[in-house]
Amino acid sequence: MDNLLAFDREHIWHPYTSMSNPLPVFPVRSANGVRITLADGRELIDGMSSWWAAIHGYNHPVLNQAATQQIQTMSHVMFGGLTHEPAVTLARLLTDLAPEGLTRVFLADSGSVAVEVALKMALQYWFSQGQKQKNRLMTIRGGYHGDTFGAMSVCDPVTGMHEIFRGVMPEHIFAPRPSCPYGETFAPGCMHAFETLIKDHAHELAAVILEPIVQGAGGMWFYAPEYLTRVRELCNAHNVLLIADEIATGFGRTGTMFACEHAGITPDIMCVGKALTGGYMTLSATLTTDRVAERISQGSVPCLMHGPTFMGNPLACAIACASIKLLVATPWQKRIQHISDQLRQELEPCRASRKVADVRVLGAIGVVEMHDPVDMAALQAFFVDQGVWIRPFGRLVYVMPPYIIQPDDLSRVTRAIRAVATGDHD
Ligand SMILES: *Cc1c(COP(=O)(O)O)cnc(C)c1O
Repeated sequence: MDNLLAFDREHIWHPYTSMSNPLPVFPVRSANGVRITLADGRELIDGMSSWWAAIHGYNHPVLNQAATQQIQTMSHVMFGGLTHEPAVTLARLLTDLAPEGLTRVFLADSGSVAVEVALKMALQYWFSQGQKQKNRLMTIRGGYHGDTFGAMSVCDPVTGMHEIFRGVMPEHIFAPRPSCPYGETFAPGCMHAFETLIKDHAHELAAVILEPIVQGAGGMWFYAPEYLTRVRELCNAHNVLLIADEIATGFGRTGTMFACEHAGITPDIMCVGKALTGGYMTLSATLTTDRVAERISQGSVPCLMHGPTFMGNPLACAIACASIKLLVATPWQKRIQHISDQLRQELEPCRASRKVADVRVLGAIGVVEMHDPVDMAALQAFFVDQGVWIRPFGRLVYVMPPYIIQPDDLSRVTRAIRAVATGDHD
């Protein structure tokens, strides 16, 4: 094991890390249910769902069976000129489940790529109608949409490190982060900057892209559904498409199947990923309306210009079908409500600490925002000592556990967070 760790340290990049001074990593032997077993035998209760993905927990018999069955049939064939049952079934499930009107599906291979595809759809939609000048994007600060160049250009300019890539990355229009929190009375004044910007730039805007209701990796911020409703109205009024990035929020995480449902809106384009395969494989999808699909297809370049090698991978699609069927067959709303209630009850006391700036809970997401940035390495080691897996970033200690987590296990997770929030751990 020491050899393995030494090689890892010398040769392998982990997400957003230095190669000369990497933070420690913990070798994992296996994962089952809500437990991650480390190589030394220690068991950690998972608070992260491996970044929103493993909603049913690890090593799930139903997903294992879907994977095994599909791998014995075919694990992959190209999607150019060929199709197969897993892709068709998945597209059917997605269009049935998605907000009304999202009828066309592009199956891609990761969240960032789904966002790239969404941006291309929006640009091609206007290009096809002879409106080449509508080629810029508008978004809100505090967003995260992925790490590829197009996606990165609509991430928050500060946390997305736009400074480094200035000159090679397109510059888009940024409205302030929505100041109206979820669950509080909506003050229409919080829309002013957005309204002014979309009005001023409508002539050059292809689309608004945002994460509906929950901004994830850009700051774990929850904003009022009325804001999203108003964005939909403004996009309609100013002839701008709306792209909802549901990659983190999709498949029940916020208490509704998709976060757009909190506002009762249908976006023109929607991206899903992360929980799509229950955390088994990388897969994403970009959905759109008949209108967008048909306009693109009637232009001088009548094809959507994208087609990754592993597009519609049958193995991933088969697992995604099983994961979605499993989700809708389980009492997911009730489970998420219980997690939500418990998170609120057990995290709310953190607010009393002078180190804590805010406590937020929505659906199966709990966030404790500290006043100061946390020492990530120290905190991660502390959490491992406590038998839980939580990966904080910046000033945020947050969890989004698998939906199957039991109250006792969730209490161990929240107890560790309370210890950090109140300073009992130092
Ligand atoms: C994680 C995430 C992405 C990027 O997905 P990858 O699979 O990491 O490329 C895009 N948008 C949102 C909202 C995400 O949470």
